[in-house]
Amino acid sequence: MTRTFRAPGRVNLIGEHTDYNQGLVLPMALDLATFVESAPNSAPSLKVHSEHYRESREWQLKTIPRLEPAGDWGDYVAGVARELLRAGYRLEPRSLSIRSTVPEGAGLSSSAALEISCALALALDQPVPPLELAQIGQRAEVEFVGLPCGIMDQYVSVFGREGSALVIDCRNLERKYVTLPSEVSILAVNSMVKHSLSQSAYRQRTEECADAARRLGVSSLRDVSPSAFEAAAVTLPEAPRKRARHVIEENGRVVRFAASTDPWELGSLLVESHRSLQRLYEVSCEELDFLVDTAVEIEGVFGARVTGGGFGGCTINLIRAGCEAGFSETIECAYQARFGVSPRIYRCRAAAGAGEITTS
Ligand code: ADP
Ligand code: MG
Repeated sequence: MTRTFRAPGRVNLIGEHTDYNQGLVLPMALDLATFVESAPNSAPSLKVHSEHYRESREWQLKTIPRLEPAGDWGDYVAGVARELLRAGYRLEPRSLSIRSTVPEGAGLSSSAALEISCALALALDQPVPPLELAQIGQRAEVEFVGLPCGIMDQYVSVFGREGSALVIDCRNLERKYVTLPSEVSILAVNSMVKHSLSQSAYRQRTEECADAARRLGVSSLRDVSPSAFEAAAVTLPEAPRKRARHVIEENGRVVRFAASTDPWELGSLLVESHRSLQRLYEVSCEELDFLVDTAVEIEGVFGARVTGGGFGGCTINLIRAGCEAGFSETIECAYQARFGVSPRIYRCRAAAGAGEITTS
């Protein structure tokens, strides 16, 4: 029998580059999602087709424990299959068909949506505890695809809830659901660029943070209070000092964001986060800075910042409900005039986490 599984992309409201530093993040799952149809397969293999790439891959089930990454999209699926086996789950011969409404490489986490939907489509009736499901997706990305990501994307794809964002503590993996004030809307604006630097810079940032933690004598930057950081900052070389300052202050911004219902305060926290990512963490780019600088001048905008890893992808914009159309038109014209590209704009509504789609 063919069954269909869905896992959402996400937008991170605040708490950027904090997850792999055991810090705090505040994302929400989106109604943009990846859907995987899982059908029985008569051969003893795992077949997968991506509608987006119009390509298929096939692996004999018995070879999966020994697979090497191929350096393409199939690695996300093979990695998840391998991690399920490692965690003691069985794999049946299946044929998966993937379609997605999450834009790729735009900072809305098409990768976690792919991992989690495939994990569900392969586990089928074997119940995987939700936290383990998220960790299987993360391990597939870290250990097989080779990107040292934190747990945020997979976690929110699993634990998202309609109408709510969630604060995730990436150290103890606890969560708290929060709702945004009803007078605000969130729009993501896709810069339509992804600079090639993004993966190598991501790796470099994770290393610089680990270096800063080592020099400060802690296992992660989560263990450094703002005052302890100020006292020790002069001992750090410039790069680890700037990266650590961003991470430590960004954790504080997540706490303030979660505690506030004032749209102007929420908006100014977003702008502070952007400036920090621009100047201290150095993961912004001309297109993203232009989108943020333009957005904050538009009527009804409380604040804006880059979301996701950076070097392209999307900004998020916190705006007054009812101002969506005017905002979209203005930012689209300005971006088109400056870069000759029309940005895609997505209305972000908090959606439920991953699961099977049941047809009645
Ligand atoms: P993001 O997660 O921000 O969208 P990533 O670079 O982490 O960006 O992940 C994008 C990668 O995930 C793509 O390059 C591709 O390998 C894989 N991917 C995402 N969606 C699909 C899809 N529908 N079909 C096949 N591969 C996909
Ligand atoms: Mg990703």
